[in-house]
Amino acid sequence: MIDRVTDHRSLPRISASLVVKAVLAVYWTRLGSLNALALTRTAKFWKSWLEGPLCSADSLGRIVASLEADPLRQGIHHVYDRLKRNKALPDLHGLGVAVLDGHETSTSYRRCCAGCLKRTTSSGQIQFYHRNVTLMLLCASPPDRPAVRLLLDLEPLQPGEAELAAALRLLERVLAAYPRAFGLVLADAYYAVAAFLNFLLEHGKQALVVLKDERRDTYQDAAGLWAQQPRQLGSYHSRSCRWWDVPDLLSWPEVQGTIRVVRSEESWTVKPQLTKEVTPQTTSWVWLTTLSVAQARTEQVVRLAHLRWDIENHGFNELVNGWHAGHVYRHHSGAIECFLLLAFLAYNIFHAFFALNLKPEARRGRTMEFVVRLIAAEIHALPRFSAAAVPP
Ligand SMILES: [Zn+2]
Repeated sequence: MIDRVTDHRSLPRISASLVVKAVLAVYWTRLGSLNALALTRTAKFWKSWLEGPLCSADSLGRIVASLEADPLRQGIHHVYDRLKRNKALPDLHGLGVAVLDGHETSTSYRRCCAGCLKRTTSSGQIQFYHRNVTLMLLCASPPDRPAVRLLLDLEPLQPGEAELAAALRLLERVLAAYPRAFGLVLADAYYAVAAFLNFLLEHGKQALVVLKDERRDTYQDAAGLWAQQPRQLGSYHSRSCRWWDVPDLLSWPEVQGTIRVVRSEESWTVKPQLTKEVTPQTTSWVWLTTLSVAQARTEQVVRLAHLRWDIENHGFNELVNGWHAGHVYRHHSGAIECFLLLAFLAYNIFHAFFALNLKPEARRGRTMEFVVRLIAAEIHALPRFSAAAVPP
């Protein structure tokens, strides 16, 4: 997979595959910067892992900026393919599920590049940033191991375009590469628009999105029916829920199909450490879906809808806080995209290794952090100094 990585340089002195292997190790060991990597140059690990000497931080950044993104995407697909064939990616509630979301990866008032997006802040300053739309595949977890989630692909927003345009471009590419990987896409309220729902329906896929706009006809139609419809009682984790499920709505003529609105009123209690008083909490959700009642019961819709947060909690929060994937290793639009694709590849391989390669007894009582430290220890091992060098 790594040998197939190519770049735009005409006479490369350092191979692209060496750079890819070095960057994957930066993510697996959570080094956080290319300069931190340079400090470990003397470690024996590099010689065996790279089959050559480690290059400078500057060369690494420069070569990643010249990498072609497509072979990296094919690398991610290769990992997916192997896991799928080994039956390691089971469906969730009988459905293949993916979640789509937009994320900003860097903001700066000083640095900008040709791919930077621009906005004016309330104080009148111009801020530069990068944003991309990402798709994550969610899978069920058997009782004896954690779930494997795969970051499948990302698409950067081009200057001047709306997030929806980048999302549809991403889905077009992902659906061609992964036609049977998922049948349902979860997304936030931004995606409760006809163009998004129709795009999925035309490709034989379903959507489940947050519905926030109370002025919308569909919302008002559903709200009118909640008053007359008996509620269903249920639960989600430790929350007690009241659900209303309104299928077969035709109040959105632009959408090429019937839509369904599900509302969930959820209540639970917390006991804050400070006051130690049991405090009731409530929350209310309204979702819109193209899934029929035959495809998913009310309870399934609620459980699937809550999984939308997986891309935040298990995807971007972990990548930014744990993997330093928000760090701008080189401010160049191609480099930002390739570093992120490499972070996705590293993330997918690490999680597959943790959930599937480690035996349950090797995982028991040990956190993921512990495994990360074991990996990092390999590159922090100092070369042995000879006894003669020690002063008497
Ligand atoms: Zn930029």
